[in-house]
Amino acid sequence: METLQKQTLVEKDRQNVWHHISPYSKENAPMIVEEGKGSWITDHEGNRYLDGMSGLWCVNVGYGREELAKAAYEQVKKMAYTPMTQSHLPAIQLAEKINELLDDDYMIFYSNSGSDANEVAFKIARQYHQQNGDTNRYKILSRYRAYHGSSMGALSATGQALRKYKYEPLTSGFLHVAPPDNYRKPEGVSIEEYNLQKAKEIEETIIWEQKETIAAVIMEPLITGGGVLIPHSVYVEEVERICKRHGVLLIIDEVICGFGRTGKSFGHKHFNIKPDMITMAKGLTSAYLPLSVTAVRKDIYEAFKSNEENSHFRHVNTFGGNPAACAVALKNIEIMERENLVDRSVELGERLLNGLDELKAYDYVGDIRGLGLVAGIEIVEDKLTKEPGSKERVGKLIADCKDRGLIIGKNGDTVAGYNNILTLSPPLSSTDEDIDFIISVLQKVFSENADNKQNA
Ligand code: PMP
Repeated sequence: METLQKQTLVEKDRQNVWHHISPYSKENAPMIVEEGKGSWITDHEGNRYLDGMSGLWCVNVGYGREELAKAAYEQVKKMAYTPMTQSHLPAIQLAEKINELLDDDYMIFYSNSGSDANEVAFKIARQYHQQNGDTNRYKILSRYRAYHGSSMGALSATGQALRKYKYEPLTSGFLHVAPPDNYRKPEGVSIEEYNLQKAKEIEETIIWEQKETIAAVIMEPLITGGGVLIPHSVYVEEVERICKRHGVLLIIDEVICGFGRTGKSFGHKHFNIKPDMITMAKGLTSAYLPLSVTAVRKDIYEAFKSNEENSHFRHVNTFGGNPAACAVALKNIEIMERENLVDRSVELGERLLNGLDELKAYDYVGDIRGLGLVAGIEIVEDKLTKEPGSKERVGKLIADCKDRGLIIGKNGDTVAGYNNILTLSPPLSSTDEDIDFIISVLQKVFSENADNKQNA
């Protein structure tokens, strides 16, 4: 692209495009991405980067899949749109396919985004209880540090203060408890005991709040965006038992963890649970087109089937279940199955964690953890006190990776204001060489930023 044209693009972007979440910066021109192939993206100046975050944890099958473009094209040509007050073939086939992957029998409600899918789950939970005569159950319990979306209800469920406080008051009826953070658990307590204690805090909150007022608990199988917090299975399984004991529905947010990201078809398959509702988005279409799903247990759906006036679910969105998006999702799942991407997620995740292991020797690396192809590197100022890594230190590591052609993410909110956990979530279609590239860049960057290297 001509130099003048490139500058103009940046200027036009600056003048017209309000970027999501990123603060305005005079120094850094926005990255304008032009092309993607496999795990790599190219910006408008021809610089290539390995996208270690798959966009926003979503391009699971990698970039540049012609099959997905064709699936969208064919469907748009044949039948571009019908609202989901009716139905169409790709929506029916996809619902069946999702149930096959879940190995279960859910009703599939289509929307556009992860936030939408969670809003739908909250509304279904509230109406379900009402329909059963449990008219006081409206509260939704979630965890601090979790992210569940940006719309007012989903943001209310989110447990990250910095994302919320400027928009308050949010929706009422949302409660939070702390999740297990195994790296920061108290000394002298086993991981199992600690995780059971954290589950118990959910039960205590339900009881303190009057259990007849609680409609649902929502949680991710592991907290991804809040800093890759992987619970022990006793936690998740105990939370399910608690929900059952108190008549509370369990919503599992699989927006990131679904479709192979954690090394299983769905993240909750690591545990012995059967969620009442499951929300999914991102990897469902690998983000080629917007689509999300709220999967709802059949017997919950039954409560909406009575002939009584107003017993149906009075919710509609224009674009949810868009035929081309459903066709792309079907093709995306076909690719995942053909290329065994769930198994690859396990293999590549192990390769990545093994390769990153030596970074633990640096005195500013507190912890490295992962499951499947999602990983977090917790940066600290002091290994003993676990003081979260400073904004400057974390920012420098990310910028240095980018200079060497690797995009990584950051997250956290350990203490409001700190985003001290570097995150990795590369495409599941990555090659071994892609993963080795990530490892080698991180090794170089961490070594360059080391004050001293302790003996591991
Ligand atoms: N839930 C989780 C766990 C998420 O990570 C996200 C988005 N990062 C959402 C919900 C919201 O999805 P969306 O951005 O598509 O609304």
